[in-house]
Amino acid sequence: MASQTILQKLEILADAAKYDASCASSGTAKKNSLGGKGIGSTEGMGICHAYAPDGRCISLLKILLTNHCVFDCHYCVNRKSSNVARARFTPQEVVDLTLAFYRRNYIEGLFLSSGIVKSSNHTMEQIVEVARILREEHDFRGYIHLKTIPEADAEIVHQAGLYADRVSINVELPTDSGLTRLAPDKNAGQIEGAMGKVKADLVEAKDARKRFRHAPRFAPAGQSTQMIVGADAATDADIVGKASRLYDNFRLRRVYYSAFSPIPDASAVLPLKRPPLIREHRLYQSDWLMRFYGYKPTEVMQATEADGNLPLDIDPKLAWALKFRDAFPVDVNRASKEQLLRVPGLGVKAVHKILASRRHRNLRLDDVALLTQSITKVRPFICTVDWQPVTLTDRADLRRLLAPRTEQLELFAA
Ligand code: SF4
Repeated sequence: MASQTILQKLEILADAAKYDASCASSGTAKKNSLGGKGIGSTEGMGICHAYAPDGRCISLLKILLTNHCVFDCHYCVNRKSSNVARARFTPQEVVDLTLAFYRRNYIEGLFLSSGIVKSSNHTMEQIVEVARILREEHDFRGYIHLKTIPEADAEIVHQAGLYADRVSINVELPTDSGLTRLAPDKNAGQIEGAMGKVKADLVEAKDARKRFRHAPRFAPAGQSTQMIVGADAATDADIVGKASRLYDNFRLRRVYYSAFSPIPDASAVLPLKRPPLIREHRLYQSDWLMRFYGYKPTEVMQATEADGNLPLDIDPKLAWALKFRDAFPVDVNRASKEQLLRVPGLGVKAVHKILASRRHRNLRLDDVALLTQSITKVRPFICTVDWQPVTLTDRADLRRLLAPRTEQLELFAA
């Protein structure tokens, strides 16, 4: 291979990293200042956005150390049999890039993943080396998220946690059978074993810091994982069940869902079409229902349709409410917090405001309307001093009345 410039490597390895959703990058309109017009560029290779533990949105340099890989996961553009341009950074090159971007204020941290070269241990050691040089030789205080390799020795993964703010291990697919079929070199037991070890390290480090102020930190922003949606036959009910088990067993901060996107030179075992993006969005909404709205996984599964998938035209909270109409209407002035959190269209903040305001006075429909984007969606499920839905809650065509008319995502609906 002719020697590549850093820029050429960056182009290849930033592009190869874009399929990983587990640092939650956000989209933006394409603009650039090439040709001397204007300042700055939103097409900068490898910059993504993520949320820091304190809730700030931060920019990260998101790259792979290399896209060479000895594994052959069918859904992955970097798999051994894929015919893509390859590149490989040295740890020092990643360090230099990170520092250069950081000093120019382009980024506040690094998200580093890698294909597997030589062996899992060798690759993991290289990833750790990047973080070690940054932290120890340059006193780098920015955010570091390291993707760890479940097949690597636990001791090397542990080292990663000592340098990184967050570590993640991808479970890849929602079912063990899907993993066996689409990622034949990977093993579900090994992946969950590695997540279990990281959890044990997190717990141990937290306990140690309670006792000794200077005990080393271990991944203070916790661990996360990513599941690919739509590459196999797993239903949303399967995915919700898997996510809930992962949260319970491994104290994950986040499960990320990534809609499978067809890749160049795709393997014949993969679907030809990507699942609708709205499916990924519905799964994120269901995740929020479990994490912030008090729904049990079985309840979210009850919101699925006969094929085991969440409806695409309405959000899962509304789907649940339409199926369990006997739980409504709830009296906004008397209902418990748990009951209010189940009202479609009322978010967590709105519920807290209702609880605070009703201590001083009885709320009317107009008061609730000020707290929601769509009082039309809320009305069938609540009573106030001046509103009773009467027969509205039981109308056979209620779903049609409440389903959004356009295809637009309801990004902020609860
Ligand atoms: S291990 Fe699998 S998913 Fe990871 S880079 Fe290699 S082929 Fe892709």
